[in-house]
Amino acid sequence: MGTVVIQRIYHKEAEKIGEKVKKRIAEIEAKMTINKPGGEINALNDTSGKDYVVLGDDTLYVLDKARHFSDISNGAFDVTIGPLVKAWGIWSDNPRIPQKSEIDELLELVDYKDVLIDKDNSRAMLKKTGQVVDLGGIAKGYAADEAINIYKENGVESAFISMGGNVAVLGGKPDGSPWRIGIRNPKGSQGSYIGIVSVKDKTVVSSGEYERFFEKDGVRYHHILDPKTGYPAESDLTGVTIVSDLSIDADALSTATFVLGLEEGMRFIEGLDGVEAVFITKDDKIYITGGLKNIFEFKDESKEFEYVEKR
Ligand code: ADP
Ligand code: MG
Repeated sequence: MGTVVIQRIYHKEAEKIGEKVKKRIAEIEAKMTINKPGGEINALNDTSGKDYVVLGDDTLYVLDKARHFSDISNGAFDVTIGPLVKAWGIWSDNPRIPQKSEIDELLELVDYKDVLIDKDNSRAMLKKTGQVVDLGGIAKGYAADEAINIYKENGVESAFISMGGNVAVLGGKPDGSPWRIGIRNPKGSQGSYIGIVSVKDKTVVSSGEYERFFEKDGVRYHHILDPKTGYPAESDLTGVTIVSDLSIDADALSTATFVLGLEEGMRFIEGLDGVEAVFITKDDKIYITGGLKNIFEFKDESKEFEYVEKR
């Protein structure tokens, strides 16, 4: 999935269980990727505008979730962003800046409402020819949830998995205390944090412009696109972290919230049950939703950030 996976499993069969998870992640990637040939999402995309395609339970579940979060975010997360992701070459070795005319043309294809899901017959279809579903903003979350399920099925009571910006934990640490998950400093190196959330049985998912980007003529183009403009989202955030129960939810929500920005994003997340967030703004301020008060610890070694406790 284009990222490093780290697992910590406390169990006498840890090695074996870790291997099972690796296999499952590879299986999910093979079914849902659009960066390699084959798989179910490529089949769906290849028959866009023509016909329904039968999908496996897991692909159907992720597609349905993606459609749901597109809906409730009013298209800030849009699962049909694929044509633009491809045009920008975000996942390729040669990212590029498409012509404005090309972007405007491709924008016509971006509309999550065109994802038709026929659950009764386990199939889906894209309404218009040329439409492309991209699960890049949500599939990692699903994979993390599946890892947690595999840990549980194998009798594990304490585990941690990290995949890029996605972390999920099962239980607490082996000593029973909560896991302490660092929230990365968007401006710093990989090991530098702005704070810590202490959690058990939760997922902590971050999105930010630092995850994947390219530079051209001194301008940085990052990988989260605004489905309304077709360009990298001009967010007032440099990063956002979602804390919730399911990683698939947190993954879609972190991408959506990044696009929405601080104010709308705050309103959006506060309106959802069981979902909390940490926002890091371009002017180096940190905001949290109410439910994180006792869970988030501001710890900024760089001394560059200001923690704004009440809005
Ligand atoms: P990461 O964990 O890699 O930082 P995100 O979860 O934020 O990523 O998702 C970014 C990926 O999602 C992009 O690489 C692209 O494939 C896809 N994407 C980009 N913009 C959007 C969007 N507005 N809605 C849905 N998916 C998007
Ligand atoms: Mg995401």
